[in-house]
Amino acid sequence: MTRTAPLIDNFGRHVTYVRISVTDRCDFRCVYCMSEDMVFLPKSQILSLEEIETLARNLVACGVTKIRLTGGEPLVRPGVVDLAKKLSALPGLRELCMTTNGSRLQDLAEPLKAAGVDRLNVSLDSLDEGRFHELTRTGRLGKVMAGIEAAQRAGFQHTKLNAVVLRGRNDDEVRPLVDYALAQGLDLSFIEEMPLGVITEHDRASAFFSSDDIRKVIRSRYALESVADDTGGPSRYFQIPGHASRIGFISPHSHNFCGDCNRVRVTTEGRLLLCLGNEHSLDLRTILRNGPSDQVSVDARVQTALHEAMLIKPEKHHFNLNDEPQILRFMSATGG
Ligand code: SAM
Ligand code: SF4
Repeated sequence: MTRTAPLIDNFGRHVTYVRISVTDRCDFRCVYCMSEDMVFLPKSQILSLEEIETLARNLVACGVTKIRLTGGEPLVRPGVVDLAKKLSALPGLRELCMTTNGSRLQDLAEPLKAAGVDRLNVSLDSLDEGRFHELTRTGRLGKVMAGIEAAQRAGFQHTKLNAVVLRGRNDDEVRPLVDYALAQGLDLSFIEEMPLGVITEHDRASAFFSSDDIRKVIRSRYALESVADDTGGPSRYFQIPGHASRIGFISPHSHNFCGDCNRVRVTTEGRLLLCLGNEHSLDLRTILRNGPSDQVSVDARVQTALHEAMLIKPEKHHFNLNDEPQILRFMSATGG
């Protein structure tokens, strides 16, 4: 497919990175991400794998160079390895990544590597079996650890752990998680909890544990040196002298990262979401499904829509933990 004009929003930001939620389903029910009795979308409402492939092809034709498959748990969607194989072969795509809870990596790390996935992020909020089970409601720590080891064996480089830190729940795990990442040669990002979806299990405001607090804990043992980052992403990175691991902090509350935003998301239902913290979006599913179905027509419709969508990408998000959640969708359907 010939390349078309790049995606540039009203604030001059180039969109080169897309996170695609391939399913809203998950085998875990993490307390900050889902309610215990989540209702999942019916199949007819979610994009088919072919539709995801079509979107990805057009996004790449418009200059997107990095795609992350996420969810929900991407590895619970049947056919996701084949999808990865097709996406990794798109000319112009430089990086195909996946964010996973790791529960199925023990079996799937090698197939994913063979399918051309370049990098993995694995969520890990606790190194204590009981605590891990409490936070994920259904997860088994041993499976995830085995999954991380399988990813290392399969040859994945720069695998990154993601940890959401909640005051009084796992804030005492900051140091053990850093020690584990350093010992395994893994990167590690700490994420401030974001108010996405209504949860009842804890009060997000009182569980808030800021990136500054986390850095204080780490600095009680290690020197943290700031490192430059050119990913245009929300993370601020640090390194501990003598170690290769990078320690990142994603701080939507304490450090607004919108100025350099280079990304958009595609929800499980095919909504192009222009900002994690706003509802500005475009219904790509309707555009994919309504109209002539030959490839030339579909591609033309999708690309026109992508360019039009750039005009409504908001300048920034406004999260406020003390108000009612303004964003009713959960991270799992959003493409976290
Ligand atoms: N299931 C995969 C996983 O857990 O890695 C991928 C999807 S999950 C929604 C992606 C990331 O979002 C995870 O690292 C998770 O910890 C994070 N996350 C989920 N809900 C969140 C929230 N309310 N605030 C901040 N991070 C959240
Ligand atoms: Fe599932 Fe990931 Fe959400 Fe946890 S954070 S419930 S693993 S989608």
